[in-house]
This record gives sequence, structure tokens and C-alpha cells, in this order.
Amino acid sequence: MGSDSAAVAALHYMLRHLHATTPPQTIPAPRPAHTVSVSARLLNWPRWCACCCEPYTTWFSASYTRRWGKRVKHSQTREWEIPCCSTCAAHMNAFGRATAYLTGAVVVGVLSPLATWLTDQQIVLIVGFLIVIALINSARNQYRKARKLKGATCATVRPPVVYNGWDGSIHYFYFRNGTYADLFVQGNSKKVVGYR
Ligand SMILES: [Zn+2]
Ligand SMILES: [Zn+2]
Repeated sequence: MGSDSAAVAALHYMLRHLHATTPPQTIPAPRPAHTVSVSARLLNWPRWCACCCEPYTTWFSASYTRRWGKRVKHSQTREWEIPCCSTCAAHMNAFGRATAYLTGAVVVGVLSPLATWLTDQQIVLIVGFLIVIALINSARNQYRKARKLKGATCATVRPPVVYNGWDGSIHYFYFRNGTYADLFVQGNSKKVVGYR
């Protein structure tokens, strides 16, 4: 009975490894960040987390908004859905919230003295100051959360891929995980026009 279950366990182990696709870890040592330009309508995003190169479970979006026109304002946004794991999605979101809180703190920090001057009410400055303190505290908590979620193989706490816009059919990306950039280049080899 005991040897049977050991055999079953060994069989399961073999089957698991038989079906496992080549893990990205077999690719030479992780490389630093890369800039990739690619000419394509459709892109093949490697089915691994773009941050830690573990199997992906979800997606995050990388977008770019192009604005032009002085009198009549135009804008166009393009967006890519990129694979990631749930832990990396969580640290990216926490980092995003930290950034939003910090931006809020700067805005309130600038506006409250102005509002105090306009209203001539000291209380406005005090309330503004308290809001700034609260926002900085929230930003710090979210940043700590992001750092805690960041795994040993994570490239960053921030989004691992940045979309830097397009020019005609050419799209520009910044990859914070060089290993994932290598996988991306392999998966889109015929479309890559620049890689450094
Ligand atoms: Zn991940
Ligand atoms: Zn990560």
C-alpha cells in the first residue's frame, strides 16, 4: 500500500514535469531593463508574469495617450493587456495607490495656502495641513504594502512594462524585467525593429 502511493506520487511528479512548458528560468541570467520597438498590429505577449516570470494568472494594462492640437484638443489612447500573476498585480496596484496619494498630497499642499490666502481663514491652512499628513501616511502604507508583496524574482514594484507610445505601426515599450523582454523578443522575432 505504502509503495503503491509512493509510485502514484512519482507518476504524478513525472506527469507534472512532462506537461510543464519550458520555464523562463532556463533562459540565461536575468538581464537589466530593455527598450523594445516592434512593428505590428497584434503582439504576442509571452504567457508568463512580466514582472516575476512565474506563470501568469491575470493581466494588467499599459496605455499611452497621445495629445495634439492647440485650439481643438485631440487625444488618442492605445492600450495593451499584458500577462502578470495576482501577487504582482497586487503590488502594482498598491504602488499605483501610493503614487495617487502622494500626488493628492502635493495638490492639497499647493492649494491650501492659496485657499487660505483667498478666504483669509487660518482654519483652511490647518485642515489642508492635516489632509496632507493623512495622504502622506496613506502613501507610505501603500508603498510598504507594495514592497512586502514584491517577491525575490520580481523586477520592480512598479508596472514591469511601460508603453511609450507609437509612431505609425511601430510601438515602443520599456521592459523592467530583461528576461521577460528576451521572451517578448523571441515571441515577436519577425516584428521587432529595435532592441537595446
Ligand atoms: Zn508575478
Ligand atoms: Zn512582481
